[in-house]
Amino acid sequence: MTVAGRGPRRGRALSKLGVIQDGAVLVRDGAIAAVGTTAKLEKLAAARKAEKIDVGGRVILPGFVDSHTHLIHAASRAEEYELKIQGASYEEIAQKGGGILNSVKKLRAATSQELKRRASAALEVFAAHGTTTIEAKSGYGLDVASELKILSLHKQLGAEQPIEIVSTFLGAHVVPMEFRAKADGAEEYVKLLTDWLIPEVASNGLAEYCDVFCDRGAFSRAQAKRVLAAGLDYRLVPRLHAEQLTRTGATQLAVELGAASCDHLEQVNAGDMRALAKSNTVATLLPGCDFHLGLKQYAPARKLIEAGAIVALATDYNPGTSPTLSMPMILSLACTQLRMTPAEAIVAATYNAAYSLGRHRRVGSIEVGKQADLAVFEVEDWREIPYYFGVNTCWLTLKSGSVIYAAV
Ligand SMILES: [Zn+2]
Repeated sequence: MTVAGRGPRRGRALSKLGVIQDGAVLVRDGAIAAVGTTAKLEKLAAARKAEKIDVGGRVILPGFVDSHTHLIHAASRAEEYELKIQGASYEEIAQKGGGILNSVKKLRAATSQELKRRASAALEVFAAHGTTTIEAKSGYGLDVASELKILSLHKQLGAEQPIEIVSTFLGAHVVPMEFRAKADGAEEYVKLLTDWLIPEVASNGLAEYCDVFCDRGAFSRAQAKRVLAAGLDYRLVPRLHAEQLTRTGATQLAVELGAASCDHLEQVNAGDMRALAKSNTVATLLPGCDFHLGLKQYAPARKLIEAGAIVALATDYNPGTSPTLSMPMILSLACTQLRMTPAEAIVAATYNAAYSLGRHRRVGSIEVGKQADLAVFEVEDWREIPYYFGVNTCWLTLKSGSVIYAAV
């Protein structure tokens, strides 16, 4: 499946996979040199000298682009998982110092080395599920030193292992504990972000994007606007956690600011969907989150697609609400819970996700000139990728033409 085509996919174009039966890909110097039927490619002079990988009737697609992850964190929150199953809500746990603040406490106590070891292991699991590019957000540090520590790790890991890491500054995840006791604590923290951390992050080239968790218990729309505007002053492109637990109007703000992506969207209304449809802001859906929290209300994917919004899918890999690294599992949830077709889910998890990261000219489809980021699945029919859930059918993953995962 090439997922070839121009520009972000909306509406019907979201299901165009570009299937080539008995296809082949010719790779040269890490880039795609030719793509077509095996019969056609075997006639090329360059193909005769090439090293061959026989994928034996399996399915090849572009490596997944996971456009929303919280890669760097110190530990799982399995203890809260149990409490949630017994009836405590996500917000009740957060009010008792659990939730994001629990992860913040653990991250601040962890060494850079410990965090790196955990993230490195996670990156191998991403590769084992066919993912070749990820976005990674800071946001479990929430003080100057810890946030810079996380962002520096994005940079180091990006340089030392094959998966490309796109770095996002999420200093505005929640208000940290030490600011909560003060009357104007939240405002003071926003000022720390806009006047100190954002300039520091941008001047050291530690992030491309700036994100805010705009929701009840996190940041208001007005605060989000100040943080994202400060980011824009330093050329950090906005992304937003929007309308997850409550509707705050964050989607309209994202569109107004020309955000690259607006993520979650469980609580969007018709006006929000119209605004997204008219914009180039990607609607990134994270069904893993609703699944893990046992919530019934998923984002209205069908309405978003029909309205004409650019829909993408991501894992939201994080220890509190979506502890999965598997894009195939997200595709399964997109099909059964969001009622997206397997074809729509695949395009949303490759090309449209790449578009949300500004990398659609380089990754997200199998086209001549693009980076040879490929995933091969041990299935006979591409629909079986989401069909088999909870098992991993990824057979081979290549990044820039090099094998980074092989099942056998
Ligand atoms: Zn998130």
